[in-house]
Amino acid sequence: MKIYTKSIEEYATDVFDMEERATCRFSQQSTIDSHIEIVKYNVKRLVQALSNLEDDTTALKDYYIQRAISIGKKYGNEDCKILSDRIIEIRMQQRRKEREEQERREEMELLQDILTEKAADLCEEDIQDMYELVEKYSEHMTEDQLARFQDIHMALAELAEDKEAEEKAERERELRENEEAIESKITCVLCLHTFEGYGHNAEPLSVGRCCSGCNEYLVIPKRIKDFFRNKQS
Ligand SMILES: [Zn+2]
Repeated sequence: MKIYTKSIEEYATDVFDMEERATCRFSQQSTIDSHIEIVKYNVKRLVQALSNLEDDTTALKDYYIQRAISIGKKYGNEDCKILSDRIIEIRMQQRRKEREEQERREEMELLQDILTEKAADLCEEDIQDMYELVEKYSEHMTEDQLARFQDIHMALAELAEDKEAEEKAERERELRENEEAIESKITCVLCLHTFEGYGHNAEPLSVGRCCSGCNEYLVIPKRIKDFFRNKQS
């Protein structure tokens, strides 16, 4: 006797074909009933074949097997109900995986863009992205990319050092300027308080510069008095 074992895909196709005949609207009811029985039988054989597999994940991704299982579910096959849930789960996993791959592709593209820039041209955000992405994808990076990253990293370290030295020089310059400004304060020749700026001519009360207060309350009144006195005489 020749033993002939069908492939799972063939069992699925059997279910599918018989279901088409069972749902043919030109058939008589008795024919339809007997076809439905054959569909149910084929469904059982399909489920049996699937259960013999060590891992049915790949088979459950097949379009015809999925269709056959949904047909079995329609006819109340309990195993097919469980398998339907598994198919939904597999589809969701597949979509999740696709999304993750898409995200990885986009992030790798972004990283590649950053790595083609000159270190000095990178903005704060680029630099942060670069370090994060390198940490995340170091295993996926090509040797070229890793070498580029090393170059940029070293260049950034140098730039940071230069910037620090520049800032230190700037701070020292400011400090010196402040000291000079304090030294450059003028002492009022009238009240002896110090003040900033050019001050005012203290004549005729004194020779030199005086503060705004003395100018307003002493120097200007004196000048006005002198003016009228000279006019009267
Ligand atoms: Zn004064």
